Amino acid sequence: MNWEEKPLRGQHRPNGDASAAQTPICRPLYNSADRGVPRTHYCGIMRGADAGEAVVLAGWVARRRDLGGLIFVDLRDRSGTVQVVFDPSENAGAHAVAGRLRAEYVVAVSGRVAERDPASRNRALPTGDIEIRPVEVEVLAESLTPPFYLTDEPAADETLRLRYRYLDLRRPAQNRNLALRHRITQVIRRYFDRHDFLEIETPSLTRSTPEGARDFLVPSRLSRGAFYALPQSPQLFKQLLMVAGFDRYFQIARCFRDEDLRADRQPEFTQIDVEMSFVAEEQVMAVTEGLMLEILERSDTRLARVPFPRITYAEAMARYGTDRPDMRFGMELKDVSALVLDGGTPAPAFCQATTGGGEVRAIVVAGGAGTSRKVLDGYAAEVARFGLGGLGSVHFADGGPRTSLSRFYAPEILERWRTEVAAETGDLLLIAAGPASKVRAALGQLRLHVARERGVIPDRELAFVWVTEFPLLEMSEQEGRLVAVHHPFTAVHPEDRALLATDPAAARARAYDLVLNGVELGGGSIRNYRRDQQMGLFEALGMSEAEAEQRFGFLLEALDYGAPPHGGIALGLDRMVMMLAGLDSIRDCIAFPKTSSGSCLLTGAPAPASAEQVKELGLEIGPAKV
Ligand code: ASP
Repeated sequence: MNWEEKPLRGQHRPNGDASAAQTPICRPLYNSADRGVPRTHYCGIMRGADAGEAVVLAGWVARRRDLGGLIFVDLRDRSGTVQVVFDPSENAGAHAVAGRLRAEYVVAVSGRVAERDPASRNRALPTGDIEIRPVEVEVLAESLTPPFYLTDEPAADETLRLRYRYLDLRRPAQNRNLALRHRITQVIRRYFDRHDFLEIETPSLTRSTPEGARDFLVPSRLSRGAFYALPQSPQLFKQLLMVAGFDRYFQIARCFRDEDLRADRQPEFTQIDVEMSFVAEEQVMAVTEGLMLEILERSDTRLARVPFPRITYAEAMARYGTDRPDMRFGMELKDVSALVLDGGTPAPAFCQATTGGGEVRAIVVAGGAGTSRKVLDGYAAEVARFGLGGLGSVHFADGGPRTSLSRFYAPEILERWRTEVAAETGDLLLIAAGPASKVRAALGQLRLHVARERGVIPDRELAFVWVTEFPLLEMSEQEGRLVAVHHPFTAVHPEDRALLATDPAAARARAYDLVLNGVELGGGSIRNYRRDQQMGLFEALGMSEAEAEQRFGFLLEALDYGAPPHGGIALGLDRMVMMLAGLDSIRDCIAFPKTSSGSCLLTGAPAPASAEQVKELGLEIGPAKV
C-alpha cells in the first residue's frame, strides 16, 4: 500500500506548508555551528527549476565518491538527498574539506544549484536533474564509522539497528514511516476537531483500568506500599469526561499492558481513543468510518465496500470461523451437517460429530479440484493443530467427483452436494467435523491458509467490516470464572438483560470491533451509564458490592450524579500506520520500540534501580528471575 498526503503546490518544506516557505538568507557559513546554519533549503526538495539559486544546505554525508579529481557527496537530510560536486579547479578550498569528509559527518554547504548535464541525470533520484556547486563547506560534526549501512533495505539485523536506533532512523525508509505516522496523526486531529471533539489528556499515573491484561505498577514513594497503575487504556477517565459533560472526547493516548509479548505487540502502544455522549452503536461507527475514509483518501488502495458491512459475532464465527474475518475474498464456511447425513451411508466421523452436539462444515476452493495429495496432507495438518482428526475432500473433477469418502457416498449424492454448496466443476470441497468451536477455528484458519497459498487475496484492496454483538462474558480457563470479553463497563444487549441473572455467559454485549483485512483495528462499546446496570454486570462477574466499591467506587459514585448514555471506541494507531505503510513490523512505525522481550536496546531499560531508590520506595527485591 502507498499512503501519501497530496503535496501542496509550491511546496518548499517537508511538512508541505507553502505559506511558511523559508526566506533565503544567504549569510556566509562562517561559524555555523555556533551561530546557527543559515539554511535556505532542504536537500531533497530542489528541482530543475531551482537551477541558478544560491542555497545553504545542512545534513549528513550519505555517500562520498572520490574520483581522483572530482569528489561527489550525497548530502542527506530528512527530506532526501542531493549531490554536491566538489571540483578542485572550481573551488580548491571546498575540495580540500571534502577530501576529509566521511560517512555520516554533519556538514553545512553553501553554493549554487546547477542543472546536471543530460548524460549524468539520475531519474531514480527526485533531485537527479540538479547538483550543488559548492562555494563553502563547513564540517559541523564528525562521525564514527556507523556499525551498519544506512540503506533503504535494512542491511543489518534488527538487534543492532535497535541498539543504534538514531542511526537506523536516519535510513530514508524509517524516516518516511515516521513522517507518514505524523501525517496520519494530523489528519486524525483535524478530523476530530472538525467534528466537535475535544482532545483531552488523561493521567498516566492512575488506578488499574481492567482491559484484560496485567498492569504495569509504579510504586509510590509518598504513600509507601501503595502503587499507581499505568493505564491499560483511558477507559474510566473518558467515561468520567462524559459524566462531566464534555460530550465528545478524543485522545491519541498511550496505553500500557504488561503482557507476554507477541511479534506485533508492544508493552506501550498508542490508541486513537474516542468517547461520545447520547449515542448508540451506529453513531460511534459512523464517526469511525468517516475517520477511516478521511485517512484513506490519501492512499492508493481500493476500498472494498462503503459503508463498511456489519456482521454479528455469531455470524462471523459461523461463516469465517473467526471474529476477525478477512472479507477480501469469499470461501465462506458452510454448514453441511444436515447435508452429509442426508443419503448414502453417512460417514461415521460425521455421525459422531453431529450426535455429539458438534457440526460438519465445509469450504469450497474455487478451481481446486486438481489439488495434489501432498497439498491435501498439508491442509489436514493445518486442521490437526486444532485437534481435529481429519479433513474430508471432494474433488469435483471433469470426469465426476473424486473423494476420500467414496465408501460412504455415491457420485449422485456428491453431485447433489455440489449444487447445495454452490461449487462448480473444477472446485474442491474441504470438510471438517467435530465440536463446533474447533471446526470453525480450524476451517477459519484453513480458509486463510488456502487463500494465501493460492494467491486469491487482492492485496491492494481494503475490506473493512464491523463485527457486532460480541458475547458480554466468557469463561476464563486460567481463572476458572467469567470475565468480560471487552471490558466490564460494557452494556448488555437490550434483548439479553434478563440473561445477566440467569445465564450470563449467553448474554450479548453492545460491543463492536472494526476489522480490516482480517486484522482487528480496534473496538469499543456502549457503556453502562447507571449504577444499577453497572452493578448488575459486576455481580455477573462474581464481584461483591464491597469489592466493586473498593475498586470502582469512584465510577459508581459518578454514575449517581447523572451520567449521559455514552459509548466509544479505541483504534490501534501503531497497527493502522503499519498497515497503511505496508510494513511487516509494528516496530518500524514506532520511533523507539521495544524488543519482543520488552526491553529497549538503546537505553537498556528496564534496568535495576539503585539500592537507595528501592529503599526509599519501601520495596525489597527478591532474587533475580532466571
Ligand atoms: N478501552 C477500550 C480498549 O482499549 C476501547 C473502548 O471500549 O473504547 O480496547
